[in-house]
Amino acid sequence: MSDETIFSKIIRKEIPSDMLYQDDTVTAFRDINPKAPTHILIVPNYVIHTMDDITEKDEQVLGHMLLVAAEIARKEGIAKNGYRLLINCRDHGGQEVYHLHMHLFGGRQLGPMLAR
Ligand code: AMP
Repeated sequence: MSDETIFSKIIRKEIPSDMLYQDDTVTAFRDINPKAPTHILIVPNYVIHTMDDITEKDEQVLGHMLLVAAEIARKEGIAKNGYRLLINCRDHGGQEVYHLHMHLFGGRQLGPMLAR
């Protein structure tokens, strides 16, 4: 599988995005097709294709993604009411972009966890 993804281009600012945060490890930007009033993607700056590909070397970056998500949720003003973090893995998980990413959803009552 290619190590180049659409998110790699966003991270390198080769294609435009509504980027909210970037450091040496992760990048966060608004989802182009938002499913909630706040819908942000938090991605590692290097390609991990899926959750099934993570190893111990990714432990720090995965933890950092959670810290950044919580900080962005506070800045977006959705932390008090609550929000949802989601990582899709492969086909049954509904993964479309094979560059591991965490969705941050909020800004409305999100309803049940899974559609029936
Ligand atoms: P997933 O189904 O978990 O792989 O989610 C992929 C997400 O990436 C979808 O919610 C898309 O709307 C989003 N997406 C795809 N291309 C872009 C892009 N160029 N900028 C921002 N979000 C994108």
